[in-house]
Amino acid sequence: MRVDKLLANSGYGSRKEVKSLLKGKQITLNGIVIKDGSTHVNPDTDNVGVNNKKVSYEKYIYLMMNKPQGCLSATKDARDKTVIDLLGDEEKTYQPFPVGRLDKDTEGLLLLTNDGQLAHELTSPKKDVKKRYYAKINGEVLNSHVKLFQEGLVLKDGYHAKPAWLEIIQSGNTSEIIVTVTEGKYHQVKRMFEAVDRKVLYLKRLEMGELQLDKSLSLGAYRPLTEQEKAYCF
Ligand code: URA
Repeated sequence: MRVDKLLANSGYGSRKEVKSLLKGKQITLNGIVIKDGSTHVNPDTDNVGVNNKKVSYEKYIYLMMNKPQGCLSATKDARDKTVIDLLGDEEKTYQPFPVGRLDKDTEGLLLLTNDGQLAHELTSPKKDVKKRYYAKINGEVLNSHVKLFQEGLVLKDGYHAKPAWLEIIQSGNTSEIIVTVTEGKYHQVKRMFEAVDRKVLYLKRLEMGELQLDKSLSLGAYRPLTEQEKAYCF
């Protein structure tokens, strides 16, 4: 990769600021001063220094986002805004992608990374990673529904869903529930409620595996995972 990109990704400022470091002969590659930002470096084998201090390069980025409604959990789209559009230029240089999908009208916890291995671990159907959602439902949610969810619902298209755990917060004309599923099929939660003749009016993901949505993140905001959160994921 280019040395200016490596330095910008490692917290040495914007490309412009990096350019001035290069101009000021403050950057070395394997002990030799370099001035050209386009110089190619291998982050695994080359030693890049800033003012004689070795740069430790972070290859991967791990971000937690509170996804708002109205944007797609995709990297690009011809028509709609995507979650990548919400990131700053520095984060974009890592080329992160969303881990799993949330519908356009679903809010909440979304992990963004460029670590394909981790994404696979968290989304592989074999791993049964738990996803916990808060939802508002049109109509009453009954204890009989809790049982049906736990037994494994048969969806309207005949698909047998894996057991899911339904907690009723309050039941009425509009009910509030928490549901935990281990699958991530298209419209999973919405289709599960359709199977019991209910409609999801609002959906928000709260947890994925051990990872919990940071309540201090406003809609559309994101932050890097803490070391502890990273440890949960691996
Ligand atoms: N289930 C859904 O129906 N939609 C989502 O976005 C996530 C889970």
